[in-house]
Amino acid sequence: MNLKGFQTKAIHVSDSFNSTAAISAPIWQTSTFRARSSEHFDELAHDTKPTEYYTRYGNPTHRQLEETVAALEGGEAALVTGSGMGAITTSIMSLLQKGDHVVAQQSLYAGTKTLLENVLPKWGIECTFVDQTNPANFAEAIRPSTRLIYVETPTNPLMRLTDLRAVAELAKSRKITTIIDNTLATPVNQLPLECGIDVVVHSTTKYIGGHSDVTGGVIVSSEALIERVWNHHIVAGAVLSPFDGWLLLRSLRTLGVRVERHNQNALALARFLESHPKVDRVNYPGLESHPQHELARRQMSGFTGLLSVELRGNYQSAKRFISSLKLVAYAVSLGGFESLVVHPAAMWSKHLSPDQLHSMGVSESLVRISVGLEDEGDLINDFAQALEAS
Ligand SMILES: *Cc1c(COP(=O)(O)O)cnc(C)c1O
Repeated sequence: MNLKGFQTKAIHVSDSFNSTAAISAPIWQTSTFRARSSEHFDELAHDTKPTEYYTRYGNPTHRQLEETVAALEGGEAALVTGSGMGAITTSIMSLLQKGDHVVAQQSLYAGTKTLLENVLPKWGIECTFVDQTNPANFAEAIRPSTRLIYVETPTNPLMRLTDLRAVAELAKSRKITTIIDNTLATPVNQLPLECGIDVVVHSTTKYIGGHSDVTGGVIVSSEALIERVWNHHIVAGAVLSPFDGWLLLRSLRTLGVRVERHNQNALALARFLESHPKVDRVNYPGLESHPQHELARRQMSGFTGLLSVELRGNYQSAKRFISSLKLVAYAVSLGGFESLVVHPAAMWSKHLSPDQLHSMGVSESLVRISVGLEDEGDLINDFAQALEAS
């Protein structure tokens, strides 16, 4: 049967990879598998991505998860990893070698930035960082040795966008591979492979997991590219546990409905905050005031559950605002069922000077909000009383 709808795929793609009668497939909580014969063993030992040989190579629980995520992203194949950084490091390292050059956007997840800026140069790989809001900047940074363009959209915490079709077109014309970190948007809101991007990576710790109870990652691409990444992965070893794979498969069943609700809550909260006299600005791609709102409407079908707000005030106002919240927790991470806030200026002050933060567009009163699945009215009430106290 041809499964078309997002939720239908999320629920039924794995059916044909579940060899049991159980509706919720069992967890293959095993590190190794028995071969049926010596011929069978030889076959397994020479297979690419065997599902019943050794769990670092593959696992039937992971196979169901991989087939489902691949279908949701519109890719041929996927590979799950033990964390989002595992997916990012494994995919990047598997594609590059000494002497290669990477073009990446300036604004990236901190771990990715560290990898590109501090780790890869040790292996003879250079990276140029560009402001991603203008696609022409990517073209200018390309060298004859450029092998990879790495993007992430929307960015955290300012929710700035990268034009995926423009970047994909540029990369294809120069035969450069493109990777996107699609963690914030999720395949519910954005399908980068349809825009021509080659590889999608996710931290499944965030929306795909959605319950703040698992750390994981996934890479989605063509069969050929995933095979290449897998050959690196079995050496790099960022392996997901079968139990965590099972939790992620359980989470995928509701991804579409959860993200719809995150989208709705975040838009309602963004509108409320934008109209509040104690708020200077709200960074959310779904608002007409977002400088790239037109692009957001073109390449996203929803605007995610993440936003940030600049208070009319200073560092202390942000601190008072956060400590006055009753429902919403002060915690890192995002994409879970519960709403969370962080204060980027406080989080990064150890590594970055006030000037560096300012040049990144991070003001001292900026607060990032991961909008959860609570009732909209209760969330707005909590933020309203915290603004009064700020
Ligand atoms: C959290 C996050 C990561 C890293 O994922 P882990 O699962 O924590 O390793 C990478 N990219 C983005 C956008 C993230 O939010």
